Amino acid sequence: MTKKPKKPSLITMVKNFAKDSAQFIKQGAPMCSTEEFEERMTICKSCEHLTEEDKCGLCGCFMPVKAGWKTTECADNPKRWHALVGPNAENPTVDLVDSESKDINPDDVLTISGQSAVSLAKIQRENINKLKTKSGKK
Ligand code: SF4
Repeated sequence: MTKKPKKPSLITMVKNFAKDSAQFIKQGAPMCSTEEFEERMTICKSCEHLTEEDKCGLCGCFMPVKAGWKTTECADNPKRWHALVGPNAENPTVDLVDSESKDINPDDVLTISGQSAVSLAKIQRENINKLKTKSGKK
């Protein structure tokens, strides 16, 4: 019988998502190409940690959102896929925003990055609201 991994706590999931979101916004909201996204999702779909709800059992993130961001990386050790941009990237391709800059308005970034980032931000907000509802927070 396969042993199911222990799921991260709600607090850990929110922290992980907040950390990933902050880095994504800080780097200018760089989105993966369709090929990069599909490559990551193929790896996740064959991973024993992916749940039926498409969440990673290690970090708790919703992978159809997380895998679309160039700044994110697999939660496993060793990593099954890597960040393409930012401080965790093995071979960074672009660093769109000065890494020292902390005065970025997420709304501006989403406007620059276009509709796909806005769509992902919407999914992200819905997931955060679901988490808040589950934990009884408004
Ligand atoms: S992020 Fe890594 S550990 Fe999580 S489901 Fe994807 S491949 Fe598996």
